Amino acid sequence: MILKQLTALSNKYGSDEELVLAGGGNSSAKEGNVLYIKGSGTSLATVKAGDFVKIDIEKLLSVFEKKYPEDDKLREAMALEDLMAARLPSDIDKRPSVETTLHGIFPQTFVLHVHPAVVNGLTCGADGEKIAKELFGEEIIWVGLCRPGYVLAKLCKELMEDYKKRFSVNASIILLQNHGIFVAANDVEGLSQVLEGVLRKIRGRLTRYPAPHKKQAPENCGEYCRTLCALYGNGASAVYENFEESLRFSASKQSAEPLLRPFTPDHIVYCRAYPLFIDSIAQAEWGFEQYKSEHGFPPKIVIVRGMGYFAFGENESAAKTAHILFKDAIKIAVYAQSFGGVLHMTDELINFIVNWEVESYRQKQSNKAE
Ligand SMILES: [Zn+2]
Repeated sequence: MILKQLTALSNKYGSDEELVLAGGGNSSAKEGNVLYIKGSGTSLATVKAGDFVKIDIEKLLSVFEKKYPEDDKLREAMALEDLMAARLPSDIDKRPSVETTLHGIFPQTFVLHVHPAVVNGLTCGADGEKIAKELFGEEIIWVGLCRPGYVLAKLCKELMEDYKKRFSVNASIILLQNHGIFVAANDVEGLSQVLEGVLRKIRGRLTRYPAPHKKQAPENCGEYCRTLCALYGNGASAVYENFEESLRFSASKQSAEPLLRPFTPDHIVYCRAYPLFIDSIAQAEWGFEQYKSEHGFPPKIVIVRGMGYFAFGENESAAKTAHILFKDAIKIAVYAQSFGGVLHMTDELINFIVNWEVESYRQKQSNKAE
């Protein structure tokens, strides 16, 4: 019964483009000592009851009693091993979401975690925390910038316990700076109410929405795509985007400034941390070379002055995902104007996630080799 409800809830919110992009986000439900969590690599929109991973809650939460090494890599590797060990024996061939521990710390039955642009306009706003307090008072827990993984889960757990002590109820909303939102409730209806209440309040403060219009694509668009794909190399695919807001941001390097650094970990993962800005297609070859010598790989996003942006990937679906995520970054940049202007991730956190990505890529490659 609970799995049926969880699947329906996941599919409902997963199909809402305002809330979920490119399969991001995750959901869970608890029954007795079992947590059902969305599997890594499945998407909320299409997840089926059989795709959820069963986790022993007691084992999952025992990570908080452990003492892990200070070293980031070691700590995260050990915490991941413990997460895997918390799977029920029937599910050891499934991979739970990396955010499972965060779901486990909510005592409520249902938990949903998403990264909607409208919410991230607030969480990536320079005055986001202040305005969140004005909008929600003590209804929410605001979590400042924090390394993902075990450290974030532990911090959230401590903040949840503190909340419970102060208000004698469990917190049902966590807003994570430069990341997204967790909502929790004991029933599906309650969860909808909590989530929709948050969205309503945030929308109520918006002074501007991203312009939805598309402009006409430049005549040589196809040719530009081919030129840039050749520079990217290895049979890459490209998607060109010219909706009004992307043109507005691409008007000059100065206007593109809010987009030249990442807002959330997802933007780093799918679009790489830094887009390349060039004045014209004629500068592309030079720009790619410069970028590659600085970063060691080609850019996934190229903003061309006055033209919008091109998103690249090793194949069509990777290019499409990079495109969707960068469009999301543009929306966040627009929404953040209602919350004091943009607030990016810090260099320290960007580097941490970039290194983490490199590491997990290496691991995937070595798994493949096995
Ligand atoms: Zn997340």
